[in-house]
Amino acid sequence: MLYLRWMNLPLDHGSTLQPATTSRTTATAKTPTAATDSTPTPASPPAKATVRMAGKTVVEVESKTVINFTSGFSHKLLCDGLTFTAGSACVYSCAFCYVEDLMRKNPHRLPNPEDHQSMVIRRRNAVEVAKRQLTFRDGSPRFPDPNDRRVIYASPLVDVAANLELARETVEICREILTRTAWQIRLLSKSSLLRRIADELGDFRDRVIYGVSTGTLDDRLGASFEKGTALVSKRIQSLRRLQDDGFRTYAMVCPSLPLADDAAYQAFAEQAAEELRTDQCEHVWAEVLNVRGQSMVRTCDALRQGGYAEHAERLERVSTDREAWEAYARSTFEAHARCHEGTPGKLRFLQYVGRGTRPYWDAQIARGAVLL
Ligand code: SF4
Repeated sequence: MLYLRWMNLPLDHGSTLQPATTSRTTATAKTPTAATDSTPTPASPPAKATVRMAGKTVVEVESKTVINFTSGFSHKLLCDGLTFTAGSACVYSCAFCYVEDLMRKNPHRLPNPEDHQSMVIRRRNAVEVAKRQLTFRDGSPRFPDPNDRRVIYASPLVDVAANLELARETVEICREILTRTAWQIRLLSKSSLLRRIADELGDFRDRVIYGVSTGTLDDRLGASFEKGTALVSKRIQSLRRLQDDGFRTYAMVCPSLPLADDAAYQAFAEQAAEELRTDQCEHVWAEVLNVRGQSMVRTCDALRQGGYAEHAERLERVSTDREAWEAYARSTFEAHARCHEGTPGKLRFLQYVGRGTRPYWDAQIARGAVLL
Protein backbone atom coordinates (compact mmCIF):
# COMPACT_ATOMS: atom_id res chain seq x y z
CA MET A 1 0.00 0.00 0.00
CA LEU A 2 2.70 2.38 1.08
CA TYR A 3 4.81 1.40 -1.89
CA LEU A 4 2.03 2.16 -4.34
CA ARG A 5 1.38 5.45 -2.65
CA TRP A 6 5.00 6.44 -3.11
CA MET A 7 5.25 5.34 -6.66
CA ASN A 8 2.15 7.31 -7.51
CA LEU A 9 3.71 10.52 -6.27
CA PRO A 10 4.56 12.76 -9.21
CA LEU A 11 8.20 13.65 -9.84
CA ASP A 12 7.50 17.34 -9.71
CA HIS A 13 9.51 18.29 -6.69
CA GLY A 14 12.06 20.36 -8.55
CA SER A 15 14.60 17.65 -7.89
CA THR A 16 17.40 16.56 -10.16
CA LEU A 17 17.03 13.08 -8.76
CA GLN A 18 17.00 10.18 -11.12
CA PRO A 19 14.44 7.58 -10.08
CA ALA A 20 15.67 3.98 -10.06
CA THR A 21 15.31 2.13 -13.30
CA THR A 22 14.31 -1.50 -13.36
CA SER A 23 16.56 -2.66 -16.16
CA ARG A 24 18.03 -6.07 -15.44
CA THR A 25 21.76 -6.61 -15.43
CA THR A 26 23.80 -9.78 -15.45
CA ALA A 27 26.53 -8.59 -13.10
CA THR A 28 27.19 -10.54 -9.92
CA ALA A 29 28.91 -9.15 -6.85
CA LYS A 30 32.17 -10.84 -5.87
CA THR A 31 31.75 -10.43 -2.15
CA PRO A 32 28.96 -10.96 0.35
CA THR A 33 29.13 -7.50 1.90
CA ALA A 34 31.12 -4.32 2.19
CA ALA A 35 29.51 -3.04 5.33
CA THR A 36 31.49 -0.97 7.79
CA ASP A 37 28.60 -0.51 10.11
CA SER A 38 27.15 -3.99 10.18
CA THR A 39 27.73 -7.58 11.08
CA PRO A 40 27.89 -9.49 7.82
CA THR A 41 26.55 -12.99 7.51
CA PRO A 42 29.64 -15.12 6.94
CA ALA A 43 27.97 -17.81 4.88
CA SER A 44 25.86 -15.53 2.74
CA PRO A 45 25.73 -16.54 -0.90
CA PRO A 46 27.16 -14.25 -3.53
CA ALA A 47 24.80 -11.32 -3.81
CA LYS A 48 23.07 -10.73 -7.11
CA ALA A 49 22.92 -7.43 -8.87
CA THR A 50 19.37 -6.96 -10.08
CA VAL A 51 18.68 -3.32 -10.91
CA ARG A 52 20.42 -0.06 -11.57
CA MET A 53 19.99 3.24 -9.78
CA ALA A 54 21.32 6.45 -11.31
CA GLY A 55 23.48 4.36 -13.63
CA LYS A 56 25.04 2.31 -10.83
CA THR A 57 24.69 -1.42 -10.40
CA VAL A 58 22.55 -2.22 -7.38
CA VAL A 59 23.84 -5.02 -5.20
CA GLU A 60 21.92 -6.55 -2.33
CA VAL A 61 23.91 -8.06 0.50
CA GLU A 62 22.93 -10.12 3.50
CA SER A 63 23.45 -8.31 6.78
CA LYS A 64 22.34 -9.09 10.28
CA THR A 65 22.20 -5.43 11.20
CA VAL A 66 20.71 -2.20 10.00
CA ILE A 67 20.86 -0.51 13.40
CA ASN A 68 24.22 0.08 15.05
CA PHE A 69 23.83 0.50 18.81
CA THR A 70 27.41 1.65 19.47
CA SER A 71 28.19 4.10 16.72
CA GLY A 72 31.09 6.54 16.88
CA PHE A 73 28.78 9.22 15.50
CA SER A 74 27.89 10.19 19.04
CA HIS A 75 31.25 12.03 19.15
CA LYS A 76 29.89 14.33 16.48
CA LEU A 77 26.81 14.94 18.64
CA LEU A 78 24.61 13.76 15.81
CA CYS A 79 23.10 11.00 17.90
CA ASP A 80 23.29 9.18 21.20
CA GLY A 81 25.39 6.32 19.86
CA LEU A 82 22.62 4.91 17.65
CA THR A 83 22.67 4.92 13.85
CA PHE A 84 20.89 3.02 11.12
CA THR A 85 21.63 2.44 7.50
CA ALA A 86 19.85 0.42 4.83
CA GLY A 87 22.87 0.49 2.56
CA SER A 88 26.64 0.55 2.41
CA ALA A 89 27.25 2.35 -0.88
CA CYS A 90 25.36 5.42 -1.99
CA VAL A 91 23.39 6.24 -5.11
CA TYR A 92 25.17 9.57 -5.21
CA SER A 93 28.84 10.13 -6.05
CA CYS A 94 30.29 13.01 -4.09
CA ALA A 95 33.98 13.51 -4.86
CA PHE A 96 34.76 14.19 -1.20
CA CYS A 97 32.84 11.14 0.08
CA TYR A 98 34.90 9.22 2.61
CA VAL A 99 32.79 6.06 2.71
CA GLU A 100 34.81 4.38 -0.04
CA ASP A 101 37.97 5.07 1.94
CA LEU A 102 36.39 3.69 5.11
CA MET A 103 35.62 0.53 3.19
CA ARG A 104 39.29 0.03 2.31
CA LYS A 105 39.99 -0.70 5.97
CA ASN A 106 37.05 -3.05 6.36
CA PRO A 107 37.76 -6.78 6.26
CA HIS A 108 34.60 -7.27 4.22
CA ARG A 109 35.39 -4.66 1.61
CA LEU A 110 34.80 -5.25 -2.06
CA PRO A 111 37.81 -7.00 -3.66
CA ASN A 112 38.36 -3.85 -5.68
CA PRO A 113 37.59 -0.78 -3.54
CA GLU A 114 37.30 1.28 -6.72
CA ASP A 115 34.06 -0.61 -7.38
CA HIS A 116 32.49 1.10 -4.39
CA GLN A 117 31.52 4.30 -6.18
CA SER A 118 30.15 2.40 -9.15
CA MET A 119 27.76 0.35 -7.03
CA VAL A 120 24.76 0.90 -4.84
CA ILE A 121 24.94 -1.58 -1.98
CA ARG A 122 21.65 -2.30 -0.21
CA ARG A 123 21.07 -4.52 2.78
CA ARG A 124 18.56 -7.22 1.94
CA ASN A 125 15.23 -6.97 3.80
CA ALA A 126 16.50 -3.93 5.68
CA VAL A 127 13.10 -3.13 7.18
CA GLU A 128 12.68 -6.66 8.48
CA VAL A 129 16.23 -6.69 9.84
CA ALA A 130 15.61 -3.42 11.71
CA LYS A 131 12.37 -4.80 13.12
CA ARG A 132 14.20 -7.94 14.34
CA GLN A 133 16.81 -5.80 16.04
CA LEU A 134 14.12 -3.89 17.89
CA THR A 135 12.10 -6.85 19.16
CA PHE A 136 12.55 -9.99 21.20
CA ARG A 137 11.66 -13.34 19.72
CA ASP A 138 8.19 -13.20 21.22
CA GLY A 139 7.59 -9.92 19.40
CA SER A 140 7.79 -7.67 22.44
CA PRO A 141 9.84 -4.49 22.08
CA ARG A 142 13.45 -4.52 23.27
CA PHE A 143 13.39 -0.80 24.09
CA PRO A 144 9.96 -0.10 25.62
CA ASP A 145 11.01 2.65 28.05
CA PRO A 146 8.88 5.72 27.22
CA ASN A 147 11.57 7.92 28.75
CA ASP A 148 14.27 6.57 26.45
CA ARG A 149 14.45 9.59 24.16
CA ARG A 150 17.82 8.83 22.58
CA VAL A 151 18.51 10.14 19.09
CA ILE A 152 19.28 7.69 16.27
CA TYR A 153 21.01 9.08 13.18
CA ALA A 154 20.79 8.00 9.54
CA SER A 155 22.77 7.34 7.68
CA PRO A 156 26.49 7.09 8.36
CA LEU A 157 27.09 5.44 4.97
CA VAL A 158 24.50 6.45 2.37
CA ASP A 159 21.92 9.11 1.57
CA VAL A 160 18.55 8.20 3.11
CA ALA A 161 16.45 9.70 0.31
CA ALA A 162 18.48 9.45 -2.87
CA ASN A 163 15.39 8.38 -4.83
CA LEU A 164 11.77 7.54 -4.15
CA GLU A 165 12.37 3.86 -3.52
CA LEU A 166 15.09 4.50 -0.96
CA ALA A 167 13.07 7.26 0.67
CA ARG A 168 10.20 4.79 0.99
CA GLU A 169 12.51 2.27 2.62
CA THR A 170 13.70 4.95 5.04
CA VAL A 171 10.09 5.72 5.95
CA GLU A 172 9.42 2.07 6.70
CA ILE A 173 12.52 1.71 8.88
CA CYS A 174 11.63 4.93 10.69
CA ARG A 175 8.15 3.58 11.33
CA GLU A 176 9.59 0.44 12.90
CA ILE A 177 11.73 2.60 15.18
CA LEU A 178 9.01 5.11 16.00
CA THR A 179 6.40 2.50 16.85
CA ARG A 180 8.69 0.22 18.89
CA THR A 181 10.73 2.79 20.82
CA ALA A 182 10.46 6.32 22.16
CA TRP A 183 13.65 7.35 20.33
CA GLN A 184 14.01 10.44 18.20
CA ILE A 185 15.36 10.16 14.66
CA ARG A 186 17.80 12.49 12.89
CA LEU A 187 17.78 12.19 9.11
CA LEU A 188 20.31 13.80 6.77
CA SER A 189 20.08 14.07 3.00
CA LYS A 190 21.42 15.80 -0.08
CA SER A 191 18.13 15.24 -1.87
CA SER A 192 14.98 17.31 -1.85
CA LEU A 193 12.82 14.34 -0.86
CA LEU A 194 12.95 14.79 2.90
CA ARG A 195 9.67 16.63 2.72
CA ARG A 196 8.03 13.50 1.36
CA ILE A 197 9.43 11.46 4.22
CA ALA A 198 8.16 14.09 6.63
CA ASP A 199 4.68 13.89 5.15
CA GLU A 200 4.64 10.11 5.56
CA LEU A 201 5.84 10.42 9.15
CA GLY A 202 3.64 13.39 9.97
CA ASP A 203 2.08 11.63 12.95
CA PHE A 204 5.54 11.52 14.56
CA ARG A 205 6.59 15.08 13.76
CA ASP A 206 7.86 15.80 17.26
CA ARG A 207 10.30 12.86 17.08
CA VAL A 208 12.01 13.34 13.72
CA ILE A 209 14.62 16.01 12.94
CA TYR A 210 15.33 16.72 9.29
CA GLY A 211 18.53 18.17 7.88
CA VAL A 212 20.16 18.85 4.54
CA SER A 213 23.86 19.22 4.01
CA THR A 214 25.81 21.46 1.67
CA GLY A 215 29.21 23.06 1.76
CA THR A 216 28.37 25.68 -0.83
CA LEU A 217 25.42 27.87 -1.76
CA ASP A 218 26.31 27.84 -5.45
CA ASP A 219 24.36 25.31 -7.54
CA ARG A 220 27.01 25.03 -10.25
CA LEU A 221 29.92 24.72 -7.83
CA GLY A 222 28.03 22.10 -5.83
CA ALA A 223 27.22 20.12 -8.95
CA SER A 224 30.91 20.05 -9.89
CA PHE A 225 31.86 17.86 -6.94
CA GLU A 226 28.57 16.21 -5.99
CA LYS A 227 27.17 13.93 -8.68
CA GLY A 228 23.51 12.97 -8.70
CA THR A 229 22.45 15.02 -5.70
CA ALA A 230 19.64 17.56 -5.79
CA LEU A 231 20.69 21.10 -6.64
CA VAL A 232 21.78 22.99 -3.54
CA SER A 233 19.00 25.52 -4.06
CA LYS A 234 16.39 22.74 -4.20
CA ARG A 235 17.77 21.18 -1.03
CA ILE A 236 17.54 24.50 0.75
CA GLN A 237 14.06 25.05 -0.58
CA SER A 238 12.97 21.68 0.83
CA LEU A 239 14.44 22.57 4.23
CA ARG A 240 12.57 25.85 4.22
CA ARG A 241 9.31 24.11 3.39
CA LEU A 242 9.84 21.81 6.35
CA GLN A 243 10.47 24.84 8.55
CA ASP A 244 7.40 26.63 7.20
CA ASP A 245 5.28 23.65 8.16
CA GLY A 246 6.66 23.39 11.66
CA PHE A 247 8.89 20.33 11.31
CA ARG A 248 12.06 20.07 13.38
CA THR A 249 15.14 20.91 11.31
CA TYR A 250 18.91 21.26 11.53
CA ALA A 251 21.57 22.40 9.09
CA MET A 252 24.83 20.82 8.01
CA VAL A 253 27.16 23.35 6.36
CA CYS A 254 29.85 21.02 5.11
CA PRO A 255 32.24 20.28 3.68
CA SER A 256 33.08 23.89 2.92
CA LEU A 257 36.05 24.83 0.75
CA PRO A 258 38.92 27.19 1.55
CA LEU A 259 38.15 30.76 0.54
CA ALA A 260 40.24 33.75 -0.48
CA ASP A 261 40.27 35.69 2.80
CA ASP A 262 38.50 36.26 6.11
CA ALA A 263 35.95 38.57 4.53
CA ALA A 264 34.95 35.77 2.16
CA TYR A 265 34.61 33.30 5.05
CA GLN A 266 32.42 35.73 6.94
CA ALA A 267 30.24 36.45 3.92
CA PHE A 268 29.80 32.73 3.29
CA ALA A 269 28.86 31.95 6.89
CA GLU A 270 26.35 34.79 6.98
CA GLN A 271 24.79 33.82 3.68
CA ALA A 272 24.58 30.18 4.76
CA ALA A 273 22.84 31.19 7.99
CA GLU A 274 20.38 33.30 6.05
CA GLU A 275 19.67 30.79 3.27
CA LEU A 276 19.31 27.82 5.60
CA ARG A 277 17.42 29.98 8.08
CA THR A 278 19.54 28.66 10.90
CA ASP A 279 17.56 30.76 13.38
CA GLN A 280 14.82 28.17 12.81
CA CYS A 281 17.18 25.17 13.03
CA GLU A 282 17.73 23.34 16.29
CA HIS A 283 21.45 23.01 15.57
CA VAL A 284 23.98 23.88 12.89
CA TRP A 285 26.84 21.54 12.13
CA ALA A 286 29.79 22.82 10.11
CA GLU A 287 33.07 21.30 9.00
CA VAL A 288 35.91 21.89 6.57
CA LEU A 289 36.77 19.35 3.90
CA ASN A 290 38.77 16.70 5.69
CA VAL A 291 41.34 14.65 3.83
CA ARG A 292 40.66 10.94 3.72
CA GLY A 293 42.39 8.62 1.28
CA GLN A 294 41.81 9.76 -2.27
CA SER A 295 38.96 12.14 -1.49
CA MET A 296 41.17 15.23 -1.79
CA VAL A 297 42.50 14.19 -5.18
CA ARG A 298 39.01 13.35 -6.39
CA THR A 299 37.64 16.69 -5.19
CA CYS A 300 40.41 18.73 -6.84
CA ASP A 301 39.95 16.81 -10.09
CA ALA A 302 36.20 17.35 -10.00
CA LEU A 303 36.62 21.07 -9.31
CA ARG A 304 39.00 21.45 -12.26
CA GLN A 305 36.72 19.51 -14.57
CA GLY A 306 33.85 21.73 -13.47
CA GLY A 307 35.80 24.86 -14.35
CA TYR A 308 36.87 25.76 -10.81
CA ALA A 309 40.65 25.67 -11.15
CA GLU A 310 41.12 28.47 -8.63
CA HIS A 311 39.11 26.58 -6.00
CA ALA A 312 41.11 23.42 -6.72
CA GLU A 313 44.40 25.28 -6.33
CA ARG A 314 43.35 26.77 -3.02
CA LEU A 315 42.31 23.35 -1.79
CA GLU A 316 45.60 21.78 -2.90
CA ARG A 317 47.55 24.57 -1.26
CA VAL A 318 45.96 24.07 2.15
CA SER A 319 46.11 20.29 1.88
CA THR A 320 49.90 20.34 1.54
CA ASP A 321 50.62 22.99 4.16
CA ARG A 322 49.70 22.21 7.76
CA GLU A 323 49.65 25.86 8.84
CA ALA A 324 47.51 26.89 5.90
CA TRP A 325 45.14 24.02 6.71
CA GLU A 326 44.83 25.16 10.29
CA ALA A 327 44.21 28.75 9.16
CA TYR A 328 41.45 27.50 6.82
CA ALA A 329 39.79 25.60 9.67
CA ARG A 330 40.07 28.51 12.10
CA SER A 331 38.77 31.08 9.63
CA THR A 332 35.82 28.84 8.79
CA PHE A 333 35.07 28.28 12.46
CA GLU A 334 35.45 31.93 13.46
CA ALA A 335 33.02 33.04 10.76
CA HIS A 336 30.35 30.53 11.82
CA ALA A 337 30.94 31.24 15.51
CA ARG A 338 30.41 34.98 14.99
CA CYS A 339 27.14 34.24 13.16
CA HIS A 340 25.81 32.18 16.06
CA GLU A 341 27.19 34.16 18.97
CA GLY A 342 23.70 35.07 20.14
CA THR A 343 22.54 31.44 20.35
CA PRO A 344 24.97 29.48 22.52
CA GLY A 345 24.86 25.74 21.89
CA LYS A 346 23.47 26.00 18.37
CA LEU A 347 26.77 25.66 16.47
CA ARG A 348 28.54 22.31 16.40
CA PHE A 349 31.76 22.78 14.44
CA LEU A 350 33.46 19.44 13.90
CA GLN A 351 37.23 19.70 14.09
CA TYR A 352 39.99 17.10 14.14
CA VAL A 353 42.75 18.28 16.45
CA GLY A 354 46.37 17.35 17.11
CA ARG A 355 48.61 18.04 20.07
CA GLY A 356 49.81 21.35 18.63
CA THR A 357 46.39 22.69 17.72
CA ARG A 358 44.44 21.43 20.71
CA PRO A 359 44.98 24.48 22.98
CA TYR A 360 43.30 26.82 20.49
CA TRP A 361 40.39 24.45 19.88
CA ASP A 362 39.95 23.61 23.57
CA ALA A 363 39.34 27.30 24.11
CA GLN A 364 36.64 27.29 21.42
CA ILE A 365 34.46 24.54 22.87
CA ALA A 366 32.15 27.03 24.55
CA ARG A 367 31.71 28.76 21.18
CA GLY A 368 30.68 25.55 19.42
CA ALA A 369 33.84 23.60 18.54
CA VAL A 370 33.41 19.83 18.78
CA LEU A 371 36.82 18.21 19.04
CA LEU A 372 37.32 14.91 17.25
S1 SF4 B 1 25.52 11.74 -0.18
FE1 SF4 B 1 26.91 11.29 1.52
S2 SF4 B 1 27.22 9.06 1.45
FE2 SF4 B 1 26.34 9.67 -0.52
S3 SF4 B 1 28.11 9.96 -1.88
FE3 SF4 B 1 27.58 11.97 -0.99
S4 SF4 B 1 28.89 12.16 0.86
FE4 SF4 B 1 28.87 9.96 0.25
